[in-house]
Amino acid sequence: MNSKLQELQELKVLKARLREVIDLNSALSILHWDQSTYMPDGGAQARGRTTATIGRIAQEKQVDPEIGRLLDVLEPVAEDLPYDDDDASLIRVARRDFEKAIKVPPDFTAEFYNHRAVSFSTWAKARPENDFKAVESMLEKTLDFSRRYADFFPGYDHPADPLIDRADYSMKAETIRALFADLREQLVPLVDAISQQPIADDSCLAQHYPKKLQLKFGEWVARQLGYDFKRGRQDLTHHPFMTGFSIDDVRITTRVNEHYLNDALFGTMHESGHAMYGQGVDDKFEASPLMYGTSSGVHESQSRLWENLVGRGMPFWRRFYPQLQAMFPGQLGDVPIETFYRAINKVERSLIRVEADEVTYNLHVMIRFDLELALLEGNLSIHDLPDAWHARYESDLGLRAPDNRDGVMQDVHWYDGMIGGSFQGYTLGNIMSALFFDAAKKAHPEIMGEIEVGEFGTLLTWLTENIYRHGRKYTADDLVRRITGSPLKIEPYIAYLQTKFGELYQL
Ligand code: ZN
Repeated sequence: MNSKLQELQELKVLKARLREVIDLNSALSILHWDQSTYMPDGGAQARGRTTATIGRIAQEKQVDPEIGRLLDVLEPVAEDLPYDDDDASLIRVARRDFEKAIKVPPDFTAEFYNHRAVSFSTWAKARPENDFKAVESMLEKTLDFSRRYADFFPGYDHPADPLIDRADYSMKAETIRALFADLREQLVPLVDAISQQPIADDSCLAQHYPKKLQLKFGEWVARQLGYDFKRGRQDLTHHPFMTGFSIDDVRITTRVNEHYLNDALFGTMHESGHAMYGQGVDDKFEASPLMYGTSSGVHESQSRLWENLVGRGMPFWRRFYPQLQAMFPGQLGDVPIETFYRAINKVERSLIRVEADEVTYNLHVMIRFDLELALLEGNLSIHDLPDAWHARYESDLGLRAPDNRDGVMQDVHWYDGMIGGSFQGYTLGNIMSALFFDAAKKAHPEIMGEIEVGEFGTLLTWLTENIYRHGRKYTADDLVRRITGSPLKIEPYIAYLQTKFGELYQL
């Protein structure tokens, strides 16, 4: 079908210009990937300079008034097309990006990239040394950058709103606060009930597991799930992440704890979920603004779906546990599958978010979300942040980290980006993961049986068809409504947790 829009020369010119912006952003992502994996410490200053230069050029290209002019010409024609038309969607998303980008001066972007590279390197060195002093002034600058960013969007209800909007379009601090309050009301009694029960024994996981074998098993599992290594790879890093430069080059990273099996194993499944989303976007969106996942919440819904709803389920391990035992016969050879299953699903109030079980996980997110809001509001200073962190862990989880390494310095986000908008996506993703998994199983009741024999094709195809291939064409809200027929709701996620952990802990 050739629409009137496609006949316009302006559309071709717009696409070519946007492609340049995407390419520059891909170059930035490669530099960031390199900094987080292979770059020697000495490279930090230069990397700051290089990313600042490219970031500035990318921003200048993105805010070129010619893009605005092209959009002005194309928009009235696109308005006659259906919402889901590819080109109409491209124009809609490009307009949204453009309106945001023109509010932020390229000098600010360059300055921030410079700061971010140095801040990340400082954190990577300071965290193992538990040296909060080393990062304190960095964080102050980051908070200042974050506030300045928010102020480019006057008229917000909360200074976190423009920052949240970068990651989870159209979400606001107030909406998320209310959603989190509802969720907390359901989660806390569940955590309390579980903590009345005997604690699960996870000693089988806390043995020596050689790094090489852990990596080998993790990569093999990722391949089984459907992560395509011909268009991806896995490397080691401080704080695991996924990054994509093209639909055909989507990479993941991991870290290995030789004395605890969960970290790398579930970390790899988590990042593979992100990567399958990235690889599943329709080829026709390559090098266009529609090429990426639509929001941090939807991205997390996929990482958490594969990590937890699939990867921490009994059906999955009925197929994969014998392989894991064969890889680690000395450690797991005589551990029954039921013991292993209880171990990987052990619920316990703990200190580290990325290692937290499914039930307590969101409590970690809520702490960070509230602290971000308080920092941006000016109700909390960076100097007082470590104590505020400890106080919240004591009140919410009944624990206090022995140091800042496992306290306020544990997550990379505030040291490698802005303060604000970086955590809500995890919990939004958890909520959505249950909605999407339920919908997939409803459409294909055979999915659980397939997982039990190590087949993931039906599930992956459904997710690709309904979520991945659309890239940024639909917003998170569009996807939830299209798939479930109603707006985001927490009940299916709560029901999933209550059923699974009710059985595990005989509640
Ligand atoms: Zn993730």
